[in-house]
Amino acid sequence: MDPCTRLFVYCRPGFEKETRSEMDARAARMGVAGSSEAPERSGWVLFAPAMPGVSRSLLSKLHNPPLVFARHLLAVDAGGASLPPGDRIAPLLMRIERLAKTHGPFVALWIGAPDSEEGRALAPLGRALHGRLEAGMRERGWLMELNGKEGVRAEVVLLSGTEALTGISVVGEALSWPMGIPRLRRPASSPSRAALKLEEALVLLLTPQERASWLCAGRTAVDLGAAPGGWSRMLLADGVTVTAVDRADLAPELRGVTQLRHVREDGFRYRPVKPVDWLFCDMVEQPRRIVELIANWALSGWCRMALFNLKLPMKKRFEELEICRERLTGVLRAAGIGSRLEFRQLYHDREEVTGLLRVLKGPRRRGG
Ligand code: SAM
Repeated sequence: MDPCTRLFVYCRPGFEKETRSEMDARAARMGVAGSSEAPERSGWVLFAPAMPGVSRSLLSKLHNPPLVFARHLLAVDAGGASLPPGDRIAPLLMRIERLAKTHGPFVALWIGAPDSEEGRALAPLGRALHGRLEAGMRERGWLMELNGKEGVRAEVVLLSGTEALTGISVVGEALSWPMGIPRLRRPASSPSRAALKLEEALVLLLTPQERASWLCAGRTAVDLGAAPGGWSRMLLADGVTVTAVDRADLAPELRGVTQLRHVREDGFRYRPVKPVDWLFCDMVEQPRRIVELIANWALSGWCRMALFNLKLPMKKRFEELEICRERLTGVLRAAGIGSRLEFRQLYHDREEVTGLLRVLKGPRRRGG
C-alpha cells in the first residue's frame, strides 16, 4: 500500500488561495474529490484526496499540463515527522524507510522549506540535515547513483524547526528545481528581474530544441513594452532581429545596434510591416486587454509564438486568469486557428503570470 496519501504544493506566498482553487478545480475535473488546506501566506497548499491510493497517479496528471500557480509538487505520506532538536535524523529515516519500500531506491534527496519568512529561515537547518540524511539513506541502500533523467526523489519539507513532511517526487515529469526556485546561469550580462524572468520563462516553457530553433540568427521578434531593454538585449544576444516598441528610452548601450529598431509608439496601435516569428509583450495593462492584443496578432498572422505577461488584479486572480484563457483560446478556436496556450507563475513573477501561445495552424501571414 502506497504510504503517500496527500499532495503538497509549493507556491508563491500570498497565492495560496489561487493555488488551492486551481488544484481543487483540476482534481474535480479528473473526478477526484478531496479536501485542501492552505494557510494564508504560508507558501503551500496540502490536498488530501478522499480516495486512498490516488496521490501518485494524481501527481503525474497534474504535471501534464502543469498547474499555473504550483512551483513544485510532491506526494507526501500521512501525518508529519516531529523532529526533536537532539536527533532530527532518526525520525526522518524511519519515515523514509516506509517510502523506500514502495518507491525506492531513490535517485536524489531534496530537503526544502516553503518560501515564507519562516520557511526561508530554515534553509541553514535544511543544509545541515542534508548530508547526514543522505549518508544514512546511502548506507541503507535507499539511494542509488543517479543518471539525472529519471527515477523517484525522496523529499523532506521543513515546516518548522521541529516539524516536517516526507514524500516523493518524480524526476522528468516536469522540469523542476528544488522548491520550484530556479537556478539560472544566464543572463549574467543583464541581471535585471525582467531578464531573469524571460530566462526562466524560456527554460520552463520551451523545450531545448524549440529554444535552439526559435531563438537564433534569422528569427525576428517584436518586443512590446521593451524599455529599458532587458528582454531585447537577450534576444539580440541569441541573434534574433528585434523591433522594440516603447515610448520610453532604451538603455544607452542599445543605441546604434544594427539588429535592433526602436519604435516609439503605443504597443496597442503598433502594426508590424511584415509578420515576425515572435511577439514578446511586457506592458503593464489590464489582462483582458493584453489577451485581446495577443489574439489579434495571432488572428492576423503577425506572429507564430507569443510570450506575454498578465498582471493579475488583487481579487479573483484565478477566476480572471481563467476568463483570459477562455477568451484567447475561444477566439482562436472560432477562427479555426490551431494553438497551444500555457500559463505559469514563474518564480520571478510577482502579481503576474507568464503566458506562451504557440500558433500551430495559422492564418495566411501578412503584414499590418
Ligand atoms: N521587458 C522590459 C525589459 O526587459 O527591460 C521591461 C518592461 S517594463 C515592465 C514595461 C514597459 O512597458 C515600460 O517601459 C512602459 O513604458 C511600457 N509600456 C506600458 N504601456 C505601453 C504601451 N501602451 N505601449 C508601449 N509601451 C508601453
